[in-house]
Amino acid sequence: MDEVECVVVGAGVVGLAVARELAEAGHEVLVLEAEEAIGTHTSSRNSEVIHAGIYYPRGSLKARLCVEGRRRLYEFCDAHGVTARNCGKLIVATSPEEVGQLAAIKARAEANGVERMRLLSAAEATAQEPALHCFGALESGATGILDSHAYMLALQGEAEEAGAIFVFRSPVLGGRVGAAGHELAVGGEAPMRLGCRLLVNAAGLGAPGLAAALEGMPRDLVPKPYYAKGSYFTLAGRAPFSRLIYPVPVAGGLGVHLTLDLAGAARFGPDVEWIAGIDYRVDLARAAGFYAAVRRYWPDLAEGALQAGYAGIRPKIAPPGAPSPDFRIEGPRTHGIPGLVQMFGIESPGLTASLSLASCVRALLAKA
Ligand SMILES: Cc1cc2nc3c(=O)[nH]c(=O)nc-3n(C[C@H](O)[C@H](O)[C@H](O)COP(=O)(O)OP(=O)(O)OC[C@H]3O[C@@H](n4cnc5c(N)ncnc54)[C@H](O)[C@@H]3O)c2cc1C
Repeated sequence: MDEVECVVVGAGVVGLAVARELAEAGHEVLVLEAEEAIGTHTSSRNSEVIHAGIYYPRGSLKARLCVEGRRRLYEFCDAHGVTARNCGKLIVATSPEEVGQLAAIKARAEANGVERMRLLSAAEATAQEPALHCFGALESGATGILDSHAYMLALQGEAEEAGAIFVFRSPVLGGRVGAAGHELAVGGEAPMRLGCRLLVNAAGLGAPGLAAALEGMPRDLVPKPYYAKGSYFTLAGRAPFSRLIYPVPVAGGLGVHLTLDLAGAARFGPDVEWIAGIDYRVDLARAAGFYAAVRRYWPDLAEGALQAGYAGIRPKIAPPGAPSPDFRIEGPRTHGIPGLVQMFGIESPGLTASLSLASCVRALLAKA
């Protein structure tokens, strides 16, 4: 059986950041990816927003890693020529009742250490964004957007420079984990068994399924996966906004918001649709809900202006209606298996937090 020191399963943004971090720390790293390229699932099906860290419970990993990861991500983009723009965003109250919620969101953000939050009256908000309709707004100066694919390529490049090897079309089907080391069953064109001392499960939507297929992994620590699909519709023509516009958050997601890409094109989404399995098709029938949601803050959205875009799926580990749990990054102290880190529920803000998630994994393995 072939042996390698460390295997990272999954080459989404999180697996890439982990591979870079571990390779740069001197580990021998092999990344096994089921698909034929990096970042073809959740990491290329999101809003590409650099989140400030506003909404998450104080002291949670989501709050801490988003705030720290956001600062590190801006610096990384700057140092590596990855296009990112600190455009800012407005969270808008679309009814008088929602105005009161803005102060609570600001207080939570500030408790998380988020800088540059400012309450705006309706007049101040529309002075900045004349097409906007709102009863008040909360400005986040730290929010931005990035070219997520260029970011992933930069991570892969640095990982490879530090010696990491990427193998595509290589799904990890299962295996055995334990104190004496781990053994993986790898499928694909050349199925094989592979031994390793360190194993990181960064398989995103596939992480609970992979954990369940690892003999020796305590079953009570494997969450049940749930899939919350988010569809996007794009705008024909340019949007009359210079920053991102978010409604007050809804259950399961952040609400149908307006995001801009780096070329200035606008997209709206994601909505929330609980589904049974991975299916990225965008249902045109959902457009009606988008027109209604967007017109709450942009009443002039013209009929026929929205076109089906793409969809992503949130890797949920709690059922519909339950509060969103924190990221679960679990090492030996949780499951008792040396050299193993499981990553579950890495939904938003996983892109923003990716560099800090990787540092967390390294710290857990250092203690292994
Ligand atoms: C609709 C939506 C919008 C979002 N918007 C934002 C945002 O604006 N900002 C932000 O910070 N975050 C956002 N997120 C969250 C962010 O996109 C994710 O947290 C992040 O992309 C997760 O990356 P990942 O590497 O864990 O997962 P993935 O990108 O899904 O990567 C996992 C990889 O593992 C591979 N894999 C799975 N099983 C196996 C196996 N058995 N063997 C080998 N390989 C396997 C898959 O093929 C895949 O390539 C959003 C998420 C969604 C769904």
